[in-house]
Amino acid sequence: MLDETRIRCESCAALLARDNHGTQCSPCRRGQIEVMARRASLVTRDPDGARRAFAGRGIHGVAAHLRCSADEAIDVVAMLGLLPPAYRRRIEVLRRLVALEQVSHVAAAEELGLSRWTVATYRRDLGIDKVAAAYTRP
Ligand SMILES: [Zn+2]
Repeated sequence: MLDETRIRCESCAALLARDNHGTQCSPCRRGQIEVMARRASLVTRDPDGARRAFAGRGIHGVAAHLRCSADEAIDVVAMLGLLPPAYRRRIEVLRRLVALEQVSHVAAAEELGLSRWTVATYRRDLGIDKVAAAYTRP
C-alpha cells in the first residue's frame, strides 16, 4: 500500500490518521484549539483595562497589561473592536508590521508591499508610531 495516497496535515504535512477526515493532524488541531482558547481568555480577562492600555500606550501597552505577546495583543484589540473594521482582513500584515517595528516607514513599506503612508497609518492606529518615529530620519 502506498501511504502517499493518504492526506497530509495542512499545517505540518504529517500524514493524517486514516480515521481523521479533517485537514489537520490531531496535535496541530489540539494546538490550534489551545491558541484559540488562550486568545479568548485574554480578551475576557480585563477588556476595560486592555482598552485603557491601548488608548495610552498602544499595542505594547496591551501586551504589557495582559502579559502576552504583541501578536496576541493584536488579536485582543481586534476582537475588542479597537481597530478599524477593515483591519480585520489585514491582521497578518499588522503582525508583520509589529515585527518590523525597528525599521523606518519606508523600509517596512518595501518589505510589506505597502505605501509608506499606509505603514504610517497602521503604526499610528496600533500605537507603535512613537517608537518607530525615532528611526524614520534619513
Ligand atoms: Zn499537523
